Amino acid sequence: MIGTAKAAKGQITRGHVELGSYPDGPVLSPVLIAEGERDGPTLWLQACLHGPEVVGPLSIQRFLKTVDLKQLSGRVVCLMLANPLGFRGYNRLTPQDGYNLNRVFPGDPQGHLTYQLAHRLLDLSLAHSDAMLDLHSGGDLTITCHYTLFHNNGTPEGIEAERLGRACGAPNVWNSLEEGLSGCHFTHYTKSGGKPALIVESGGGARVTPEDLDNLTAAIFNVCQARGMLPGEPMVPARFRLGGDAIHHKATHGGLFIPKVGPGDDVVKGQHLADIVDLFGDVVEAVHCPVEKAWVGSIRRPYMPIYNGDQVFELVGTKGYDPA
Ligand SMILES: [Zn+2]
Repeated sequence: MIGTAKAAKGQITRGHVELGSYPDGPVLSPVLIAEGERDGPTLWLQACLHGPEVVGPLSIQRFLKTVDLKQLSGRVVCLMLANPLGFRGYNRLTPQDGYNLNRVFPGDPQGHLTYQLAHRLLDLSLAHSDAMLDLHSGGDLTITCHYTLFHNNGTPEGIEAERLGRACGAPNVWNSLEEGLSGCHFTHYTKSGGKPALIVESGGGARVTPEDLDNLTAAIFNVCQARGMLPGEPMVPARFRLGGDAIHHKATHGGLFIPKVGPGDDVVKGQHLADIVDLFGDVVEAVHCPVEKAWVGSIRRPYMPIYNGDQVFELVGTKGYDPA
């Protein structure tokens, strides 16, 4: 039982779960439980931790329409909106207090609204599951390449998180132990909860492509297979590109953003990554790669206006390939 959703063998059941409160009533997220006919572990599957990242719920819907419950061992708990406030505001941040939910874990039951939400989500997910898959994309303002992100700190749960990352189907595998991601849900699920968790990202830019839907839907099936919840072996790339620490490059000038590289491209120090032009058509800033070797984790949505200070590139330090 999660909120009003009651699991039933061989069925997909639905309901709502309370995550906080509005001034006039509860903050609710739709939740579905896909309960297999066989016993097994529980996967916590969630989407829209950042409001506009709708590749997530659409991929979960596809998974639920195609999964064979006769073959499923255990259950998949599907939290459709990890941040219902951000979803309603179509905002990466919680509109009521301006916080990025995925930077404030483990949260605080006495803190700001977003901190209370983080505390509730961590409690709920750890109480009801053995592993977590957190679906993301670039939402409206950025476009990410297809990558997975997890916290492998060398513990059994960290090692399992990396194993799932390598099984999810993403060609880009990023073990991030950096301070900037210490407030993420997946980090705390693994570090304080002692259970494996991973993020999978694909797409964004205020649109959803068939490829993004394929990528995130495949990630759900692949993680279920890797956890022994569905028969078969995950389809994985022959070679992984590995990621290390990332930098989040911000524009110093506002204008129109004209990228020269796309999500997933390899870049090297000094490479011309983008121009920012003013309304006269003059280049007011040329963005060059500030790090030795990286791959483009995400770019700002092309051609749209930006303010100075807006993030234009996520550059993930290249740690080579596996196999080399
Ligand atoms: Zn996100």
